[in-house]
Amino acid sequence: LPQIAFAGKSNVGKSSTINRLLNRKNFARVGNAPGKTIHINFFEIDKKAYFVDLPGYGYAKVSKKERDRWGKLMDEYFASDDTLTMGFQIVDIRHKPTADDVTMTNWFLQTGVPFAIIANKLDKIKKSQLEGSLQTIRTTLHLPENVPVIPFSAEKGNGKDEVLALILEHIHEEK
Ligand code: GDP
Repeated sequence: LPQIAFAGKSNVGKSSTINRLLNRKNFARVGNAPGKTIHINFFEIDKKAYFVDLPGYGYAKVSKKERDRWGKLMDEYFASDDTLTMGFQIVDIRHKPTADDVTMTNWFLQTGVPFAIIANKLDKIKKSQLEGSLQTIRTTLHLPENVPVIPFSAEKGNGKDEVLALILEHIHEEK
């Protein structure tokens, strides 16, 4: 089955985003305590695809050992010949992406799989801030022009149709 991976800094709303896309309240756990055991969760969607919940990054208090474990897990996931069909990286629309975010973007760029940025928490900014916020994300992550940045609110539902349309497009391209 095709795999759709979701990555993002801790607390960016990754679980909320997955739940919103799946129309579920408690599928992925919201508000996980930082520093919990790192693992990758797979959710099977109607026997059509997997949603892959990659472990969050950027926790403030994480030992070098944990950090290394995260890196190894990601290495293994991205290197496996599993069908990673498409990736989504979730960022907070209010903030300039961090160095960890840039690293994650480069990870996706290196794999060559199609990916998009989900700019979450749209409900927390004013309309007048939207263009500037999107531009900051684009420049900070050094995004190629063909990588979409989708304004999104896991809380209110904005951007959901656009994300689902992208996913369907890429699932259907699979042989
Ligand atoms: P994760 O650690 O990335 O999985 O983040 P969670 O899904 O647990 O969300 C972290 C916090 O951000 C929770 O308190 C959510 O309710 C909140 N949150 C997530 N998405 C949104 C959003 O679109 N808007 C607002 N206002 N809050 C959100």
